[in-house]
Amino acid sequence: MENFDTIVVGAGPAGSTAAAYLAKAGKNVLLIDKASFPRDKVCGDALSGKTMKVIRELNLVEEIKKLPHASIRGVLFSSPSGHILKVPFVKSDQNREDGVGYCMRRYHTDNMFFNAAKRFGAKTKEKMLLQNLIFENNKVVGIVALDLNTQEKKEFYAPVIIGADGVNSIVAREVLKQDSNLDSYHSCDAIRQYFSSIKGLSDYIEIHFLDSVQPGYFWIFPLENGTANVGLGLVSAELQKKMKNSKTTLISLFQQAIRENKLLKDRFIEAKALGPITGWRLPFGSKKRKVAGNGWVLVGDAASLVDPFSGEGVGNATISAKLAAQTIIQALEAKDFSEQFLAQYEQMLWQELGPELDTSYKMQQIGKIKFLLDRVIYKAATDEKIRETIANSLASEETKKELLNPLFYLKILL
Ligand SMILES: Cc1cc2nc3c(=O)[nH]c(=O)nc-3n(C[C@H](O)[C@H](O)[C@H](O)COP(=O)(O)OP(=O)(O)OC[C@H]3O[C@@H](n4cnc5c(N)ncnc54)[C@H](O)[C@@H]3O)c2cc1C
Repeated sequence: MENFDTIVVGAGPAGSTAAAYLAKAGKNVLLIDKASFPRDKVCGDALSGKTMKVIRELNLVEEIKKLPHASIRGVLFSSPSGHILKVPFVKSDQNREDGVGYCMRRYHTDNMFFNAAKRFGAKTKEKMLLQNLIFENNKVVGIVALDLNTQEKKEFYAPVIIGADGVNSIVAREVLKQDSNLDSYHSCDAIRQYFSSIKGLSDYIEIHFLDSVQPGYFWIFPLENGTANVGLGLVSAELQKKMKNSKTTLISLFQQAIRENKLLKDRFIEAKALGPITGWRLPFGSKKRKVAGNGWVLVGDAASLVDPFSGEGVGNATISAKLAAQTIIQALEAKDFSEQFLAQYEQMLWQELGPELDTSYKMQQIGKIKFLLDRVIYKAATDEKIRETIANSLASEETKKELLNPLFYLKILL
């Protein structure tokens, strides 16, 4: 039996970031994970501007530069009928390095966050599987975990537990009961495969809106040495409808796009798959979850925070972790771990991410109108002002809201 100020369950970007901020503030924090690091995680491997904000705060930018990565200068969109739009990152985007973003395998990214938490002083235990929480008087006070090396059960105690154990979070399941179930209209199924020798790769990430994948998209995200992460994601409810009516699966949609799509098929003629197709689920933040209670908080995918339009989850995972750590540092000073006190985290979280998640959900709904999506991409490719609005919307939340204004679409249609 060991006691800590805080126990963090799960050492993905959310858990390691929370542990890093707590340890940096001098707190006695335990970070456990069932895996041992470095480990892989199914992802598109793109590090958004929001992720870079936290990476910069933790002084990790130079580490990325030493690890295998691709430098990214913008986004290429294609529409269902094949129009192409290239949007460079704006140089003034403070969340990117002089207009440059990065794609890096999660194998490296997560190891980088995990080592940062260790360097700041977090105690870590790998191959340690959370089995259940320990409750006392309706408060979470500790965890029971299985040491996968020795098969021994261990108990660890802390006045507050952070659930950072991803989309199938045991912490969320225990504290929220059935409220932790994913709503298929507010989650997405996605698969990815690594490739080499795809023709025409550039320093732009590629997002292809396909007829057969709405709401969702096919992506090609460049990586080191001419390799790429290629994948496809579709809102779970839409996938379920397709699977009911035909033999369609995510894999069949993915392979069909590579084989038949007029923009893609020639580019994959010499491409070599570098591993199997693997999949995972993304819990969207368009359906808000309770994220704090007596002696517990949830962060990252365990808190269901993935952007419902872009599918980006690492940024929101790290932002939520930072806000949770800030609240817990205050809770440790006040010696108050009640639901009322920890609700400060919930308030800060929705203040910071709520408006953006709402905007992204509306954009996901607008994107379902194929005709409009086609028209926007076609018009933006030929009209510099519209292109500029889209470029700025990648950097600023305020400009992103312009994309919800009916006038924006009226101008495009007329
Ligand atoms: C196909 C796909 C593509 C994506 N593309 C992108 C992208 O390009 N960019 C982006 O920003 N986001 C992307 N996402 C979303 C992103 O992967 C997640 O939002 C992100 O990983 C969330 O981080 P996290 O730390 O909350 O959870 P995770 O990264 O899932 O980490 C959870 C950790 O908890 C550990 N754990 C789980 N259960 C237990 C247990 N019982 N005991 C101990 N440890 C446990 C796991 O081993 C893991 O290390 C994508 C997701 C998918 C599926």
